[in-house]
Amino acid sequence: MSEQVYIDGAWRKPASGETIPVVCPSDGKVFAHIARGGAKDIDAAVQAARRAFEGPWGKTTALERGRLMMKVGEKITQHAEELAQIEARDTGKPLKQARADMVAAARYFEFYGAAADKVHGDVVPFLAGYTVLVKHEPRGVTGHIIPWNYPAQMFGRTLAPTLACGNTAVLKPAEEACLAALRITELAHEVGFPAGVINVVPGYGEEAGAALANHPGIDFIAFTGSPGVGVLIQKASAEHLRPCVLELGGKSPQIVFEDANLEAVLPVVTNAIVQNAGQTCSAGSRVLVQRSIYDRFIGMLVERFAKLRVGSHDMDLECGPLISAGQRDRVQGFVRAAKAEGIPILAEAKLAPGLPAGGYYAPPMLFGPVPSTNQLAREEVFGPVLSAIPFDDEADAIRIANGTPYGLAAGIWSIDGSRALRVANAMRCGQVFVNGYGAGGGIELPFGGIKKSGHGREKGLEALREFSVIKTIVINHG
Ligand code: ADP
Repeated sequence: MSEQVYIDGAWRKPASGETIPVVCPSDGKVFAHIARGGAKDIDAAVQAARRAFEGPWGKTTALERGRLMMKVGEKITQHAEELAQIEARDTGKPLKQARADMVAAARYFEFYGAAADKVHGDVVPFLAGYTVLVKHEPRGVTGHIIPWNYPAQMFGRTLAPTLACGNTAVLKPAEEACLAALRITELAHEVGFPAGVINVVPGYGEEAGAALANHPGIDFIAFTGSPGVGVLIQKASAEHLRPCVLELGGKSPQIVFEDANLEAVLPVVTNAIVQNAGQTCSAGSRVLVQRSIYDRFIGMLVERFAKLRVGSHDMDLECGPLISAGQRDRVQGFVRAAKAEGIPILAEAKLAPGLPAGGYYAPPMLFGPVPSTNQLAREEVFGPVLSAIPFDDEADAIRIANGTPYGLAAGIWSIDGSRALRVANAMRCGQVFVNGYGAGGGIELPFGGIKKSGHGREKGLEALREFSVIKTIVINHG
């Protein structure tokens, strides 16, 4: 199936007849192929989705939709180990991370499956003799373009809420990694979704992705990826006067005050940049440390980084390879520039001995102090590179934390609850954690950015608002 597109409830060859090689980042070797979908396939998928929306799917009850979705959740759980093995090989992430991803992928279908029949509206008080209903209706056919960093989770995150709302969908997964998403598509087929409700067309971004973003037949588009492509998606949406939700990454700060429990901070701050080799939108890529504890906490971080090990997905260490040679070059470009500017390297993790030569490995690195104006402190690296930045007081911390073009997530570490809340309120971003950091992790938690991090909210019940539209019915009954 992996070399085909899934349209109208059936797998078929893409119109191009061509495939795209799939490389394992751990060894750089091709181990599978996916379909090279393009404009023709996208067009067929959008038409199938429209037919399903106007046909059988439009007639299902919310309860029926929810039950089907819950079954997908069950299937993912039953196949979790198989899916995790696929995901780890496809993305290079350590197996334990891929296993955790499958728990989250299943949760998306469970959470939104259970929510499907709880999307209800209001009755608004109005003039005498009137009853006013405010209904949440599906948008119609929704388009979805997802990235390669969490293919299975992203599949659940974007599809489950739209299906719960009663939409039908066309999804373009990332060409670099999408095998687990394709396998989940098969599982969704098995549970009996009507044909055309879910359509999945793999392909290159400039081909299948652009065709989907520009297709006149979709009513909404949800995109997660780079800011550059986000701009293209928003332009295409503007052409068609349709809304979109964009999640475009960040430069999320971890703010460590002098009263924080540093033992508790250490593993979380480390994991926030090492998880998925830093290829996470909400990676905690800046650690802002109060000057009075800067040396002490940086010393702890240095020790911790020295113990981190980087290996292939099946070695299952703390950190895997980056997704591709291109991504590794990009990360190394940031590292080279920082070195050239004389920013000190405080720590560099070790690559495990005997790694396959062709893998795209990059060791987690800690730089500091990084001037808050430097690109390493302002731009998204999308790799395991942490920038340490000292700050003097609360106002200084807030200024530095908010001083990037992004605004996705933040972590605040302090045992002073009032201060933590003041700083949380001052953060210009979409999600703040106090004394913890699990950004992106909780299915229940509305998630999304401001500024260059994008707009709109996914996850939580909030996503149900994005994927539905309000209709007001005003009845004059005298
Ligand atoms: P990254 O740089 O992290 O790969 P991208 O934004 O390039 O992020 O990719 C995220 C998703 O957007 C992928 O599915 C990719 O194929 C898709 N994409 C890339 N370019 C375009 C484009 N011009 N139009 C639509 N989708 C695109």
